[in-house]
Amino acid sequence: MKAIYFETHGGPEVLKLGERPAPALDRGMVRVDVRAASLNHIDIFLRRGLPGVKLELPHIPGCDASGVVSEIGDGVTGLKVGDRVVMNPSLSCGKCEFCQRGDVSMCTTYKLVGEHTSGTFCDQIVLPAENAIPFPESLSFEDAASLPLVFVTAWRMLITRGRLRAGEDVLIHGASAGVGIACIQIAKVTGARVYAAASTDEKLELCRSLGADVLIHAEKEDVARRIRELTARRGVDVVVDYVGKATWQKSLQSLSRGGRLVTCGATTGYNPEEDLRHIFYRQLEVIGSTMGSRNELMAPLKLIFEGRMRPVVSAVYELKDAAQAHRAMEARTSLGKLVIRVS
Ligand SMILES: [Zn+2]
Repeated sequence: MKAIYFETHGGPEVLKLGERPAPALDRGMVRVDVRAASLNHIDIFLRRGLPGVKLELPHIPGCDASGVVSEIGDGVTGLKVGDRVVMNPSLSCGKCEFCQRGDVSMCTTYKLVGEHTSGTFCDQIVLPAENAIPFPESLSFEDAASLPLVFVTAWRMLITRGRLRAGEDVLIHGASAGVGIACIQIAKVTGARVYAAASTDEKLELCRSLGADVLIHAEKEDVARRIRELTARRGVDVVVDYVGKATWQKSLQSLSRGGRLVTCGATTGYNPEEDLRHIFYRQLEVIGSTMGSRNELMAPLKLIFEGRMRPVVSAVYELKDAAQAHRAMEARTSLGKLVIRVS
């Protein structure tokens, strides 16, 4: 099958277009002809190489996909050849203590498609049947492929882990990026007030169009000072920070007493300076989150299928131009999601 893959770690130039063996179809699995895939920050980190993460090379990147079911494995019910499906990228054992209680992304053998297994920048993937989710005709394959990773991450982080409630104030850093566009919309349907911070006027305009109540230009304004002014020195109830080193201090300073800082990543660095007095004097909570369960994916997908939230695709690239898409993601200039059209 045709695939984008890399044999060594490095810059976008290591991505090659070529032939790779098609995966075998096992019992309980379905084969999906991939129509579209999307980029996530994890793709960049994995291509460069992450300390402690050993990839089997050559590796096909990509954690998100949509497509058409082309073959059904033994024992599969409820799906047929020709179904339009979007992929839930979380693979878990279903048996460990954490799976049993529904915290699938805490599974002791958790696997993310495209990180721990072969990814989606290719013609064909095979998936456990329960990971193939039918989606309505109202969404294009490109729209559908842009959804799972960022929306499941945002839902678990804000709603399950962050316990965001109606009437609360939430600050979102990097609000025009993939997880940000999901967080803004989920916070709004929850009934929260959204303070969106982003680095350009164009990015802030996208945040406004998604329902953000207050826009903060992160390059021109001190975000923490602006939050204190806007909230009469109180601070916000919840801060979403997956930017990491560049924003961590500001996030702690932006929280109200008893506020919650939720994080699912650190795109600018893992080791921020931290003044622990902020945490204990003001009784803050720092809450980690990663990926989510099928329920935590289905909740936002249902709202999108009903038209109450929407995908935000900023650009669509052909499979052969995957390196160009990686460069665009690294430049941090794009709004929302970058999608690869596979076939
Ligand atoms: Zn498990």
